[in-house]
Amino acid sequence: MSVAPTEIPYARAWIDDDDIAAVVEVLRSDWLTTGPRVTAFEAALAAAVEAPHAVAVNSCTAAMHLALAAWDIGPGDEVVSSPLTFCSSMNVAVHLGATPVFADVDPLCLTLDPAAVASAVGERTRAITAVHYGGHPVDMDSLRTLAAPRGIKLLEDAAHALYARYKGRPVGVLGDAAAFSFYVTKNIVTAEGGMLTTADAALAERVRRLSLHGLSRDAWKRYQKGGSWAYDVVEVGYKCNMTDMVAALGVTQLAKGARLQTMRRELVALLDEGLREVPGVTPLGRHPWAEHAEHLYVVRVDEREVPGGRDALSAALADRGVGTSVHFRPVHLTAAYRERFGFRAGQFPVAERAAAEVLSLPLYPRMTREHATEVAERTAEAVAALRARGGA
Ligand SMILES: *Cc1c(COP(=O)(O)O)cnc(C)c1O
Repeated sequence: MSVAPTEIPYARAWIDDDDIAAVVEVLRSDWLTTGPRVTAFEAALAAAVEAPHAVAVNSCTAAMHLALAAWDIGPGDEVVSSPLTFCSSMNVAVHLGATPVFADVDPLCLTLDPAAVASAVGERTRAITAVHYGGHPVDMDSLRTLAAPRGIKLLEDAAHALYARYKGRPVGVLGDAAAFSFYVTKNIVTAEGGMLTTADAALAERVRRLSLHGLSRDAWKRYQKGGSWAYDVVEVGYKCNMTDMVAALGVTQLAKGARLQTMRRELVALLDEGLREVPGVTPLGRHPWAEHAEHLYVVRVDEREVPGGRDALSAALADRGVGTSVHFRPVHLTAAYRERFGFRAGQFPVAERAAAEVLSLPLYPRMTREHATEVAERTAEAVAALRARGGA
């Protein structure tokens, strides 16, 4: 088969005319940075996840960084997270001087395994960052049972998990704080952007202050009409406030978020159906208590059934115009973490094996139902070709 261009990419943002109009309106106004649209986006997201407080920042990474900073986590402290995540989940702990500790994942859904976390937690553990991998919520009750009596903070990395629920409760209020991402591949998109949600008013206040240099509350008013130049620096903070341009997009994106979720669920059902008979390609499992955000459509590729395994299938799909991705390179095996902290292969076998087998197939609301059927068909074709070539 001749090499076709990528016709069905693995992810694509959904941007409508109302999104564009909202940003243009900000550009035509006299208020570009943190102002009324940020306040509106915070209120809308807080309502969507039933959280008492929300603080908008310029990325999910920043939201996690500021939460750990606001909990005064630093040198000598340990932060536990999954190795199967984007590096930023742990980088932020390292920035603060804390020691990264990983715990292996549950083979069914690839989120933190509470039993593994129990062995990883020690005297110095100050926080657990629970990554809702692909949109499947972590078993938060088990983590809370572990964390609460020890005074360990529970941070949700909810980058994949806007609209996910755990035992009926929304992601965003399951831990002491949660961090959302509006990066260009995520379920709602502002290009770059993030939000921290929490029930803790004092935490929200401190994160807000840290997001703008540690300026005093009054100083924030200089960002509002009628504000004055007077300010004090209460503590040495960072610079990661959200702009009104970004927040305007967030508001229009969130307004259609529930509709986009319905589309994602329909596409997942079509992919599940179409892949059912394909040997060696199995979607990840789900716990009965999980309401999935359908952010990623992750399959495991069994090398015994599909010669060449995941990498061969990914290449064969690229030849057939289907884009894929891999989530994730295990963080502990990246060069920086191996060299600086001495991590090595074999430490987290469930995550490492999954990392070699997982493939993320296209899933985004701009896919049509026909695209979803096509993805399944081309996967079946690619697997058949690999098996024929491999003599399976
Ligand atoms: C995308 C992502 C992040 C980072 O989000 P940003 O908004 O780009 O900082 C963090 N964790 C996970 C699991 C992600 O996929």
